Formats: sequence, structure tokens, C-alpha cells
Amino acid sequence: MGRIVKITCASCGHEWVNRVGCGLMHGNLGNIAGLFSEEESGIIRQYMAQNAYPVFDFAYRLAYCDQCESFVSAPVLELQDGFGRYIGSCKQCGRKIDIANIIEEADRVSCPVCDRMSLHLEETGLWD
Ligand SMILES: [Zn+2]
Ligand SMILES: [Zn+2]
Repeated sequence: MGRIVKITCASCGHEWVNRVGCGLMHGNLGNIAGLFSEEESGIIRQYMAQNAYPVFDFAYRLAYCDQCESFVSAPVLELQDGFGRYIGSCKQCGRKIDIANIIEEADRVSCPVCDRMSLHLEETGLWD
């Protein structure tokens, strides 16, 4: 079950709502592969072919998109056996999200609108 998180800026009042975590369909690596580029999904399918019970860690993570100048959610997949980590694209504009733009803690990031360190994150619900 995923979480719906709302980021609010105490200084300028802007807010962003995003879905993070993963839903029921993301228990299946084949479904997840479709969220990534053609090249990446090819690698993911290769991983599936090599592992009868593929181990993976998948979640939508909070990220900052340079192009949207906004907080968005981006799919992040980690595979084992040296296959590494894959980060998908911004859902809104399709731009590839850089690993540096994945947000670990919202209160350590400045607001993209007013540039103050006054962001507050709260969970507003669940999704699946
Ligand atoms: Zn974007
Ligand atoms: Zn602000």
C-alpha cells in the first residue's frame, strides 16, 4: 500500500501532493518494467529471465523535477546481482529524474518557489 503525501511550504503556502510507495500491481516485476524506458525494461526482463524468483525493491519516491520546477513522484527500482538501480521519468513531463533529485527528507530541501527551508510533509492518505 502506498502513501499520499502533501508537502506544504510554511513561507509561501505552495503545496504539492504526490503518491509514494507502491501499489498492488507493483508486486510484479513485469508490470514495473513497463514504467521504465525501453532499454531499461529490456534489462529488467533479462533480470527476470535469469531469476525464477527475482528479488527487487520498488517504490515511487519523492523527487524534484527540474523541468516542472515541482515536486513529483518517480519510480525507483533496485535489483540485485549487480543489476543496480533504475530511476524512471517524471510522470508529468516525462523527463528522466536524476538520482541527485530524489528527496530523502523534505525538511532538508528548500522550497522551489520561495527558496526557504520551510517545507513540511504530511501523509494525507493511502493508495494501492
Ligand atoms: Zn517533470
Ligand atoms: Zn515556499
